[in-house]
Amino acid sequence: MPERPQSGAKPPLRILLCAPRGFCAGVVRAIDAVERALEKYGPPVYVRHEIVHNKYVVESLRRKGAIFVEELDEVPDGDRPVIFSAHGVAKAVPQEAERRNLFAIDATCPLVTKVHREAMVHFKRGREIVLVGHRGHPEVIGTMGQLPDGAVTLIETADDARAFQPRDPSSLAYATQTTLSIDDTAEIVAILKLRFPAIIGPHKEDICYATTNRQEAVKRVAPQVDAMIVVGAPNSSNSQRLREVAERAGCRAAALVQRADDIDWSRFSGISSLGITAGASAPEILVEEIIDAFSVRYAIAVEIVSTAEESVFFPLPRDLRPDAAE
Ligand code: SF4
Repeated sequence: MPERPQSGAKPPLRILLCAPRGFCAGVVRAIDAVERALEKYGPPVYVRHEIVHNKYVVESLRRKGAIFVEELDEVPDGDRPVIFSAHGVAKAVPQEAERRNLFAIDATCPLVTKVHREAMVHFKRGREIVLVGHRGHPEVIGTMGQLPDGAVTLIETADDARAFQPRDPSSLAYATQTTLSIDDTAEIVAILKLRFPAIIGPHKEDICYATTNRQEAVKRVAPQVDAMIVVGAPNSSNSQRLREVAERAGCRAAALVQRADDIDWSRFSGISSLGITAGASAPEILVEEIIDAFSVRYAIAVEIVSTAEESVFFPLPRDLRPDAAE
């Protein structure tokens, strides 16, 4: 429980709530896929990797009968569904599922699949591929794993882009992780284009609409507030980027917070304005919980700062659609 204020009237606090924030279409689809699979096939339903990077979501699905595993060798043989997370998987994973005759359902976000397809097209055309992203992130493992070892070079920083030596600068392409910082990525891509003018990029940015819109909203709010909270998990790339964007946009105290109980109140004493956003995998109920925690200490007034409207929707994986055969 949040600590209660000592006594007297609560100080006023203006809360600027970023919009859009929280769940994106890819996360909604992935969570719906697990819930629908539980309804349709009954528990247990296996899920490879956290379906989205949020403990609250994972725990609530676990209570309904989902079993989370890191690798397919933890899934027993049989007819139980196994769902691949929104981050996507290396090609070897569905191949292994097929070899073992497992019932695999792919909840990879269609915008991640788009990046996989681009990488494969470049490869087929004989281009060397540079992937801008963070080493070890499941999406990067999945994208690099679409192609044979050595086909994709990972670039994480502007220095990596300066040092990169291609085999043939005239046959080069790049792709990016979907949840990167727009500004950092623009800098890295600018270096690559300057050094290798023939490099080919995506027709439409790989950084997805949800990442872009949430960062834009934070850029609008962060310079106006004393502190900023990003509701999200430490292993959520897009949430981490939102915190960085808030700091760079001029907010002195920007914190990533998973639940109200995690708030370090010493960082939020004496403030009169607070910005709040949420990463693409953080449910709105956690935003409400955090606003409630502030209302215990402050007399809050909430204003919504909207920088974009979102209407993106992705249909469920085929086996889970209402018209799919039983
Ligand atoms: S953050 Fe973007 S790429 Fe990732 S699941 Fe959401 S919409 Fe898809």
